[in-house]
Amino acid sequence: MPITQAPYGTAPDGTLATLFTLTNAAGCVIKITNYGAIITMLTAPDRAGQAADVVLGYSTLAEYVADTPYFGAVVGRYGNRIAGGRFTLDGVEYTLARNEKGVNHLHGGERGFDKVVWEAEPGEGPDGATLALTYVSADGEAGYPGTLSAKVVYTWTNENVLRVQYQATTDKKTVLNLTQHSYFNLAGEGSGDVLGHEIQLFAGQFTPVDENLIPTGEVRSVEGTPLDFRRPHVIGERIGADDEQMTLGGGYDHNFVLDAGGGQLARAARVREPGSGRVMEVWTTQPAVQFYSGNFLDGSNVGKSGVAYAHRTGFCLETQHYPDSPNHAEFPSAELAPGETYAQATEFRFLAE
Ligand code: BGC
Repeated sequence: MPITQAPYGTAPDGTLATLFTLTNAAGCVIKITNYGAIITMLTAPDRAGQAADVVLGYSTLAEYVADTPYFGAVVGRYGNRIAGGRFTLDGVEYTLARNEKGVNHLHGGERGFDKVVWEAEPGEGPDGATLALTYVSADGEAGYPGTLSAKVVYTWTNENVLRVQYQATTDKKTVLNLTQHSYFNLAGEGSGDVLGHEIQLFAGQFTPVDENLIPTGEVRSVEGTPLDFRRPHVIGERIGADDEQMTLGGGYDHNFVLDAGGGQLARAARVREPGSGRVMEVWTTQPAVQFYSGNFLDGSNVGKSGVAYAHRTGFCLETQHYPDSPNHAEFPSAELAPGETYAQATEFRFLAE
């Protein structure tokens, strides 16, 4: 039975949500709910073949509805921040929800794609079970122009690869930046902080931020900074360094510009947890990735196994276009016009060594 489904409760708008369980030939499991396209569980084997759940999250829908820092969700329409909650497109200024500190727009606003119920269709792809999720965002939703038809297809392969394919079309010119906001802990969720994880990022540049985590517009070399992960380093090694960007980010919370440049599937990151031997590689067609070291986790979210998620007990690798691109003509464009099809893909590949 590669896919089973069960009722997952009622969303605040009265829509029924479902929880889908995808099991591969290796016996590893992903659970996904169509509320927010949230991945609630993902198991991967360690070097001895022992599986553990490596994503942070809750067991019930009510907990996701009550309070979540985007655990496991698809973020949209625009991942990360848009300065001042506004941008101009073809001479027209659009005002977005200012859901961060009343100033900036974050992750699609008060009710982003992480808080709506998507249409779900389970299926079988050439290399694994699939779950196709679609959502039509009305013209003007959260302030964005255009009726946006979005589709996310999750595939869970027999080789423990989670493939996420994104597609979208619009009937009016708009901006778009969809991403996946899973928090990972390769030692197992709830097992402590991620500071001992070793991470490599295939990125020679990053976009520095200001005190509100908004890109300044500069694209800076990682050379000689704590953000140089071109060779593997453990996350904790330089996280407390006396460095302006580390202070502003409260740790790692930065957009890394991938050397591959986007456009075709290329390796963005490799993370290894020395204790378990679990490895996760991230491959993407996107030009950048947000490496977030869980700096805002403060123990107030109690996870599915009853453990409070303390500071830096999970990390995110959100493949994306650069934050605030709609206000930076020099960044790769995040615009989508009628007649075009937005298409991006990211793979999270789980291995052990
Ligand atoms: C952002 C963080 C934010 C987190 C949860 C990440 O994508 O970069 O600054 O706190 O999402 O909202």
